[in-house]
Amino acid sequence: MVLPVEPEFEQALNELTHSLTHFLAENPQYQKALEVVQVPERIVSFRVVWEDDQHLPQVNRGFRVQYNSALGPYKGGLRLHPSVNLSILKFLGFEQTFKNALTGLSMGGGKGGSDFDPKGKSDNEIRRFCVAFMTELFRHIGQDTDVPAGDIGTGAREIGFLFGAYKKLKNEFVGMLTGKGLDWGGSFIRPEATGYGLIYFVEHMIAKACPEYSLSKPTTLVAISGAGNVSQYTALKVIELGATVKSLSDSLGSLIATKGYTREDILSIGQLKLKAGTLESWVAQQPEGRFTYYAGKRPWTLLPEVHHALPGATQNEVSKEEAEALVKAGVRIVAEGSNMGCTEEAIAVFEASRTSGPGGVWYAPGKASNCGGVAVSGLEMAQNSQRLAWSTLEVDAKLKGIMAEAYEQCLSAGTKWSGENLSGDVLPSLLSGANVAGFIKVAD
Ligand code: GLU
Repeated sequence: MVLPVEPEFEQALNELTHSLTHFLAENPQYQKALEVVQVPERIVSFRVVWEDDQHLPQVNRGFRVQYNSALGPYKGGLRLHPSVNLSILKFLGFEQTFKNALTGLSMGGGKGGSDFDPKGKSDNEIRRFCVAFMTELFRHIGQDTDVPAGDIGTGAREIGFLFGAYKKLKNEFVGMLTGKGLDWGGSFIRPEATGYGLIYFVEHMIAKACPEYSLSKPTTLVAISGAGNVSQYTALKVIELGATVKSLSDSLGSLIATKGYTREDILSIGQLKLKAGTLESWVAQQPEGRFTYYAGKRPWTLLPEVHHALPGATQNEVSKEEAEALVKAGVRIVAEGSNMGCTEEAIAVFEASRTSGPGGVWYAPGKASNCGGVAVSGLEMAQNSQRLAWSTLEVDAKLKGIMAEAYEQCLSAGTKWSGENLSGDVLPSLLSGANVAGFIKVAD
C-alpha cells in the first residue's frame, strides 16, 4: 500500500524499529506485533469553526489519534500549534503509547490537537475555539474511553474551557480530561510533573554515570531549552537542588544567564509566558549584565561549558551540529523533556559518544525521561475515579517511585537487548532500553 509521506511519524517508527533489531532477532514471534502497533486504532478528523472578536467565522482542522488501547483508555495531550498535522500527531500518539506503558499505569496512547495558533488571540477567542473544538471532540472521548490533557498551546486555561464545554454537552462531571484546576478534580503536582519527573530521572542517570556533576553542586551547569511549562518546572527543580541553570529559550531566541537563573527569574518568566510574552521583551526589563540574548538561536552552541542538556521545547530541536557542540562543551547527560527533542543525527552523535567509553554522553529519550507528566495524569484519573484528592507529598512520592521504576526498566532492557558489547565501563543504551521495554509491554 502507498502510504502518505509523514516525516515525523516515520522518524519515530524508524527509531523504534531500529532499537528492536536485536530483540526481534531473538524473539521473532513479536514481529507481527510491531506491524500491528504502528497502525493507529482510529483517527478522528474534524472541522472547527469558531467566531473571532470581529464576529467573523474562522476555521481550523481538529484531530484525535486514538493510537493504542491495549493497556487502558487512550491517553495523551492536545497540541494547539500552527504546525500541527497528522504526521506530527501520529508520531506523538505512537510515542505516547510506549511512554505510557513505561509509567506502569493503566493507560493506552493517543494524541490530538489543531492547527489553531493561540498566539495573539484574546481570552475570548481562545474560549470560543475550545468550545467549538469540544463540540465535536466530546462524542469521541470519555473517562474510560479517551482522556486528553495539555501539550504545547494547551495549558490549565484551555483545559478549563474544554472541561466546561464537555460538562455541558454530556451533563456529567467526570475525569475525562487531566491537567484540571485543583478545585474541580485536578491533581497536586500535575503542573510540575513533567519537569520534576525529568529531574528525578536525570538524578538516577547522574548517580550512575557522573556523580561528580551532581545537581546539588552550584558548579554543575545545566542547559535547558524552551520556556513553557516543562522547562519552567525543570529549571525550578534544578535550582531547588542547587545546580546552575544557564539557559532558557523560546521560538524567537535564547537567553543565557551569566551566573545562572534564580527561582524569582523563572517565576517571573512563568507569569510572562501566561500572557504570551517573549524572552526578548523580558530581558529588556532586567538589569544589564546578568543575561545575554541571542536572537534566532537555540542554546546548544552558545555555552563553552555545560554538564547536562535538557531539551524542553519541541521535536527535532537538537541538530547534529548542535549535538557535536554539546559534546565539545563537555556534556554528560542529555535527557529530553520534549518529545523526540533530538534529531536522528543528533542521537547518533550522543550514542557514539556513549559507546566511546567513560566520560561520554548518556542520552535518554523523552518517552522515558518525560513520562512524569502523563504519569501524574494517570494519578489524576485514579483520584477522580475515587472522588478524592491525594496530598502534594503523596503525589510527589508516587511520581518519584514511577520515575525510578521507568529508569530501572530502561536500564535493564538496554543492558539485555541493545545487542551491544557492554564490556568495560560502557553504559547501556537508554534509547534501546526505553523502546524495547515499552514495546514488550504493549505487544504482550
Ligand atoms: N502532553 C504530555 C506528554 O507528552 C502529557 C500527556 C497527558 O498528560 O496525557 O506526555
